Amino acid sequence: MIIMKLVLQLQLFTSYQSGVPKFHQFSSVPDLKHLLNNAAKLKSLKHATQIHSQLVTTNNHASLANINTLLLLYAKCGSIHHTLLLFNTYPHPSTNVVTWTTLINQLSRSNKPFQALTFFNRMRTTGIYPNHFTFSAILPACAHAALLSEGQQIHALIHKHCFLNDPFVATALLDMYAKCGSMLLAENVFDEMPHRNLVSWNSMIVGFVKNKLYGRAIGVFREVLSLGPDQVSISSVLSACAGLVELDFGKQVHGSIVKRGLVGLVYVKNSLVDMYCKCGLFEDATKLFCGGGDRDVVTWNVMIMGCFRCRNFEQACTYFQAMIREGVEPDEASYSSLFHASASIAALTQGTMIHSHVLKTGHVKNSRISSSLVTMYGKCGSMLDAYQVFRETKEHNVVCWTAMITVFHQHGCANEAIKLFEEMLNEGVVPEYITFVSVLSACSHTGKIDDGFKYFNSMANVHNIKPGLEHYACMVDLLGRVGRLEEACRFIESMPFEPDSLVWGALLGACGKHANVEMGREVAERLFKLEPDNPGNYMLLSNIYIRHGMLEEADEVRRLMGINGVRKESGCSWIDVKNRTFVFNANDRSHSRTQEIYGMLQKLKELIKRRGYVAETQFATNSVEGSEEQSLWCHSEKLALAFGLLVLPPGSPVRIKKNLRTCGDCHTVMKFASEIFQREIIVRDINRFHRFTNGSCSCMDYW
Ligand SMILES: [Zn+2]
Ligand SMILES: [Zn+2]
Repeated sequence: MIIMKLVLQLQLFTSYQSGVPKFHQFSSVPDLKHLLNNAAKLKSLKHATQIHSQLVTTNNHASLANINTLLLLYAKCGSIHHTLLLFNTYPHPSTNVVTWTTLINQLSRSNKPFQALTFFNRMRTTGIYPNHFTFSAILPACAHAALLSEGQQIHALIHKHCFLNDPFVATALLDMYAKCGSMLLAENVFDEMPHRNLVSWNSMIVGFVKNKLYGRAIGVFREVLSLGPDQVSISSVLSACAGLVELDFGKQVHGSIVKRGLVGLVYVKNSLVDMYCKCGLFEDATKLFCGGGDRDVVTWNVMIMGCFRCRNFEQACTYFQAMIREGVEPDEASYSSLFHASASIAALTQGTMIHSHVLKTGHVKNSRISSSLVTMYGKCGSMLDAYQVFRETKEHNVVCWTAMITVFHQHGCANEAIKLFEEMLNEGVVPEYITFVSVLSACSHTGKIDDGFKYFNSMANVHNIKPGLEHYACMVDLLGRVGRLEEACRFIESMPFEPDSLVWGALLGACGKHANVEMGREVAERLFKLEPDNPGNYMLLSNIYIRHGMLEEADEVRRLMGINGVRKESGCSWIDVKNRTFVFNANDRSHSRTQEIYGMLQKLKELIKRRGYVAETQFATNSVEGSEEQSLWCHSEKLALAFGLLVLPPGSPVRIKKNLRTCGDCHTVMKFASEIFQREIIVRDINRFHRFTNGSCSCMDYW
């Protein structure tokens, strides 16, 4: 009703305007104010420009009050373009602090922090002093772009102009520090505030949560309890409980929400459901979700994410479909979390189904969604689908490029990865930290030493990115892989920070490949100190000894594992058949078709022995002497392979996932099997993809 009335008034005004001679004056100032207010309420840019042009034709436009009101009107209509145009039309003498503040506020809110700062500085050079509104407007700009030193300069100005006692300014200031990641400075401001309101307390809670200091967030919340927390305080503290998996306190907060009658607020409910999901109480979350009250897209997203957390993909899909049935339009976050989840459990069928839904809704143009699609197809082992999505995306951001480069690399297409990286540079896209991890690994897999060093050096020299541990590890791997072990050692010594297990692990792998027992032993000892619980390092060293026939030393390493209480994680493989995931452990005999599976393995063994296969018994662990070969044939990935060969239609690819690195013997068997059965076999182990076709693997036997 109210809206209708406003529209009517404005229409009257416009028709009045067109029929009236140009010399029309507003009969009174309140009339004009009324119209401006109405246009602002409707956020109608069309009406705003009409009023503006009327003011110009009636020569009423140059008064400061009218300029300010118009500026505010354009700001409320969300048109930064009109605001700037109007502002730039008037010479500075006809502006005051209100004019500037309106503009700065608008720039700050429209995500233009640097422009906001420029105008803030320009205002000061014209001799106009900022007031508390100006400061409250400029601080969010610094916060948004994490401009800590600019923020500190503004802090000094606030101090100089004596606005620190203003609770709004002080809250904006502490909020800025929190968003710039400096909770210490935020606390200083908070401690010195003479008057705090709920907003300032909430800013502290939000700040602590944002900086992952969950315990501190809960501490501040306890103090807020006596003031009467609102939905911001409550939903932030629930995030803190979720972060700490602090269920007891979370339940107390739930109780106080019920007592305060806030449980119906969708914002509060979402945080509560999220907290229960993250604390592992999915049933309580479901109860809340189904228990009436409003639900928005975030509520659904929280439930979908909750399903993934308990690895229940089918249920997540059910929620996704129910959401669509209820007429809730999935948003960018829903899709991208669905794809990431499909990727993390390599559920290709579900991922493809959601993809087709995205195509229907036209969301695919969105670069965040297409990059998560690329990653999903990549992780599900479908490199070609990933590439198709990538090529069909019109505008690639750096995340999208990086996703595709990573997929190429993970699938052993290192040359394509490097080619794509060059293409990205040619398009003028600035690479990120993570882009270089993929590119350098690709160089390493193809033995491109010169290119590797060229890119590594370009990080700091050209792109202003400090190489991190991952990049150093790639370079060590690159040198180690081609056998330049001494050089790799010197490279590690030249590092500007302490090398970690990733870096030493790369060198240990190279020692294994190039049979350097001495260096291998030294490196392994460092690794045992750095991560005494990682069975992988013990296994690597023991394999180096075994390859050299140093069986006693190998036994010694196994004994050390026992002393340190390290247990080799038991192997486990998954295979998807017709939307169902089948899990196989080593020696598994639980499947209903166990007889056929072991029969298939026997047949496979005979076939490949005829082609020259010899069991690589060094990979047999924990087995009685004489039965090594037999134990090799009970590895989980072999069982999954046999099952796949039995049930998947001829010619279709077999996709297997494994929780550990795949062993050398299984690797060899997969190669043979891909040739004999003329099938593509894709094994995604903990490190990478192995794509077996026609008797060879995409990893070129190095992993
Ligand atoms: Zn194996
Ligand atoms: Zn391989």
